[in-house]
Amino acid sequence: MSPIAANLQAIRRRISEALQGDSRAVRLVAVSKSQPREAIRDAFDAGASDFGESYVQDALPKIAALGDLDATWHFIGQVQSNKAREIAGRFDWVHGVDRLRIAEALSKARPEGMAPLDVCIQVNISGEDSKGGVTPGEALALARQVAPLPRLRLRGLMGMASFTDDVTAQRAQFAKLARARDEIAAAGIGLDTLSMGMSQDFEAALAEGSTLVRIGTAIFGQRT
Ligand SMILES: *Cc1c(COP(=O)(O)O)cnc(C)c1O
Repeated sequence: MSPIAANLQAIRRRISEALQGDSRAVRLVAVSKSQPREAIRDAFDAGASDFGESYVQDALPKIAALGDLDATWHFIGQVQSNKAREIAGRFDWVHGVDRLRIAEALSKARPEGMAPLDVCIQVNISGEDSKGGVTPGEALALARQVAPLPRLRLRGLMGMASFTDDVTAQRAQFAKLARARDEIAAAGIGLDTLSMGMSQDFEAALAEGSTLVRIGTAIFGQRT
């Protein structure tokens, strides 16, 4: 078994242990940013089908070269409006929607022949300036604006906890994303996705209701 296949197997086991018998479906996005094509192929052969990329210029040639794989591509970086067309044409999901203008640009650019683009609104749950996203208090207003856009499908919310190994602090931040989702649901906008949890904190995220984890280094090793 390749190291990547072994890592994937270990991650899957840790996910199912963290769920403690809860039957909710959790999507594992293998974050392949700055990883070579062969590593993505290796992960695909080991059963990974969802891949996350953060840099448009880096991702597009990889997506094209791996076009023979039946893979789902997630854009998890910051969306710049001048990249909206390339992102909307090549990716299946966008996790970092944090402004109406970006959502409108993605909706307008999504080709008619494709299914609507799956999107998440990014919420800043750590309070750090270095992280993007609307505040938890702004999430409902943005959801109300994004949900009706014709070529998007608003799936949920995405958040990142601060870089700490304090599990209590991680859980407190992830709980904010779950509360924002509940508030939006109470307003009549159903969301099926909580995109939260990375290599160092996915177990805390799953404990707070994550349905999609984005894991890079624990699968592929350190990025170069
Ligand atoms: C890089 C990245 C990840 C993966 O981080 P790891 O620590 O390598 O698991 C997840 N989400 C986002 C938004 C990222 O930029």
